[in-house]
Amino acid sequence: MDETVEAPKRAARPVGLLLVALRWYVLCVRRRDANTLTEGVVMKSRAAVLREVGADWSVEEIEITDPQEGEILVKTLAAGMCHSDEHAHDGTMPVPLPLIGGHEGAGEVIALGPGVTGFEVGDHISCSFIPSCGKCRWCASGQQNLCDLGMHLMAPGMIGGGFRHYDADGNPLTPLLKLGTFAEHMVLSVDSAIKIQKDVPAGPAALVSCGVTTGFGSAVNRAGVRAGDTVVIVGCGGLGTAAIQGAKIAGAKNVVAVDPSEFKRESAQQFGATHSAPSMAEAMEMVGAMTEGVMADSVILTPSVLTGDLIAPAQFLTRKGGTIVATAVAPAMQMDVQLNLFELAMMNKELKGCLFGSTSPRSEIPHLLSMYQAGQLKLDEMITSTYTLDQVNEGYADMMDNKNIRGVIVFD
Ligand SMILES: [Zn+2]
Ligand SMILES: [Zn+2]
Repeated sequence: MDETVEAPKRAARPVGLLLVALRWYVLCVRRRDANTLTEGVVMKSRAAVLREVGADWSVEEIEITDPQEGEILVKTLAAGMCHSDEHAHDGTMPVPLPLIGGHEGAGEVIALGPGVTGFEVGDHISCSFIPSCGKCRWCASGQQNLCDLGMHLMAPGMIGGGFRHYDADGNPLTPLLKLGTFAEHMVLSVDSAIKIQKDVPAGPAALVSCGVTTGFGSAVNRAGVRAGDTVVIVGCGGLGTAAIQGAKIAGAKNVVAVDPSEFKRESAQQFGATHSAPSMAEAMEMVGAMTEGVMADSVILTPSVLTGDLIAPAQFLTRKGGTIVATAVAPAMQMDVQLNLFELAMMNKELKGCLFGSTSPRSEIPHLLSMYQAGQLKLDEMITSTYTLDQVNEGYADMMDNKNIRGVIVFD
């Protein structure tokens, strides 16, 4: 073997790699420090951007840079209009601005960043509004909804740091919950993407990113609804409608839909509600009568905003030993809660929080979509109206006017 010829070639390779790595590092540091777009523009796209609390969504041209380590570039096909985007818009939920809205979405993978395994160009994905690393204590114990990557969700930029989305002036944009589905294209971490069957329509695939998985799991996983139960669902929008379906599929005998909107009370019946009432106060006598005074096995709170005054009436609708599930988003600084502490203890009741249906998105999202494909879970029926990206403000006005169970933005 001729060592004198081979040796220089071996030495050159590490030096070349080192130079490439050094250049990449310098580019990354420069980009992070400046927080403005200087390198690597790969494409232009369009997105709905929130620039300040209370302002309209601004539909504008954006620039997207290459997906980095562990990231994918996705062409968005559909985006669900969840109430949590409105919570970002109205300031209930503090978010970094400027922000690309949207955290329910489905799309097609069109490019892979370095080191991505398990995904190919052409794959279809549903977004998961909570990422799952698969390695932390919570992921490893079947609680991916509590994954430690969740700590990044309210911080600016991407999970891995830096920015991939910029406005036309080169200013960085943060995708809501690391997704930003109100955009024609998204760069996201593979930890936030769930591969799904290509024959699942995009609208239903978007709904399981947040609302359906959260509502369904509130009933099936967190409340633990069993055959013959009496269940009260408070708030019958997207979350509540999914909770109604979960309770029905789990075998509940009575499913009581509580909502001030007549449209939503009527809609609830299509999804499995057996009774309805405009308020918890008006449901009290009805639930007492149907259970011979025992009251509901579980009460699930899925209103548009969770406030402290809702807990006590939910507590009194619940039987002894029963479960109250608090699912909806509350104002971030809400500290005051009406609760009869004596009754909670002496009646052996449970009050439980619920995040993302208390389930693991990497198993539950494909599972729910398989139930949809089998005709068991109604998702097409939950989509009341569709909109273009340019109609995003109209879609949210319709949601606030109680016209929609779910509005969905569809892309070309
Ligand atoms: Zn949501
Ligand atoms: Zn994890």
